[in-house]
Amino acid sequence: MKKQNFSEWYHQILEDAEIIDMRYPIKGMLVYRKWGLFIIRQMQRHLEKLLEESGHEPCLFPVLIPDDILGKETEHIAGFEEQVFWVTHAGVNPLERRLALRPTSETSIYEMFSLWIRSHSDLPLKVHQSVAVYRYETKHTRPLIRGREFLWNEGHSAHTSLKDAKENIEEIKKIYGDLIREFLCLSFRINKRPEWDRFPGAVDTFAFDTLMPDGKTLQIATVHNLGQNFSKVFDIEFETEDGKKEHAWQTSYGPSFGRLLAALISIHGDDKGLVLPPKVAPIQVIIIPILFKKTEKENKDILDYAKEIENKLRSLDIRAQTDSGEEHPGAKYYHWEMKGVPLRMEVGPRDLKSRVITIARRDTGKRSEIKFDDLGEIEKIFSEISDNLRKKAEKKFREGFFKAKTLEEIKDHLGEGIITSGWCGKKDCAEKIEDVASILSVGDSSVRCSVCGSSGKEIRVAKSY
Ligand SMILES: [Zn+2]
Repeated sequence: MKKQNFSEWYHQILEDAEIIDMRYPIKGMLVYRKWGLFIIRQMQRHLEKLLEESGHEPCLFPVLIPDDILGKETEHIAGFEEQVFWVTHAGVNPLERRLALRPTSETSIYEMFSLWIRSHSDLPLKVHQSVAVYRYETKHTRPLIRGREFLWNEGHSAHTSLKDAKENIEEIKKIYGDLIREFLCLSFRINKRPEWDRFPGAVDTFAFDTLMPDGKTLQIATVHNLGQNFSKVFDIEFETEDGKKEHAWQTSYGPSFGRLLAALISIHGDDKGLVLPPKVAPIQVIIIPILFKKTEKENKDILDYAKEIENKLRSLDIRAQTDSGEEHPGAKYYHWEMKGVPLRMEVGPRDLKSRVITIARRDTGKRSEIKFDDLGEIEKIFSEISDNLRKKAEKKFREGFFKAKTLEEIKDHLGEGIITSGWCGKKDCAEKIEDVASILSVGDSSVRCSVCGSSGKEIRVAKSY
């Protein structure tokens, strides 16, 4: 049961629905299986399309970064130092310079930006790549949430001014918002991270946080304003219109596909298993022939009718499949409900006779009938399903907001959601708060400090993954 034991439910569904296999013999590294990988690819395609429409060029950089390049930006390397996997040997011989498995690609990409960017006419330059990155996590690893190899898309940009860089950040926020809310039907808030929690080397970090069913927040994407920190050490200079040399203004950003998948599974899922939004579902419609074995002829007619429905749906670009296996229909219902297929079609003798189809929605369990000739309207049902999932997710998300005046009140709501409170700006007080929860953001409005009571700013805190 999801409510009683979320963690157990989560691990079980990852295995049962063939999302991933956790038994690979390296801790924190997973095998992605068909159901999970399909969903990741759907979100990847959608995101890449949006990025390329907004002027990003696709690229693919090597997985290895030489140590002198990784170490160029001192804050950046300090932030990742303890998590880097190093390649030190080629065969039996030690390498002259060790090579890092990318923990993120700012340094390797900006090394090349410095060669590509000469003039203001080369800017803005925006690139993106979907790759795996490697971080030796010392914290407890969790499948899809915290691993030592994870899949993401990372975007990188260079601009002629801070204003343009900030405009890009706003555009990326919209693109990620589209991916998370419209495509995956999930809710989120963007939190500007406090100084100590920024991406190493960034001027500002904006994080997309969602709320998991156990009341913990999950950071699913980040967008960073890098200022000129990297362009100065990587010599990314351009000639302005009046012939002066200037350093470029940069931003970088990325959503984690694994974490998005974890949120998708956890937030929409129920006691029967996955509940998938139609846009990401590997199978959108499962057709189950109801065979009574009265006569061979009748069974064949029903199977033919099921096939006809499948072909019709496929011609409409709908991912449809007929389950003509030997199991009892009830067992098939159970299986495909667990896999989260958005729509089930039941096809029996009565349906065949009147050229109708009985349909059952995974998200509501509601059954209704549709005429064969109306199958073109399935997309409309899909969008109703997506709307419903989006609404439900938003409702749960909104129920997870609390206010706390004191540290005790923060503790009372810990693990229930996102708590709004206050902080005076002193390090001591932040440490006391962070002993029990994470400070997701520090805002501008005035709220008294939850620890010492003096005047302060509004903060959002939560227990987070
Ligand atoms: Zn204080």
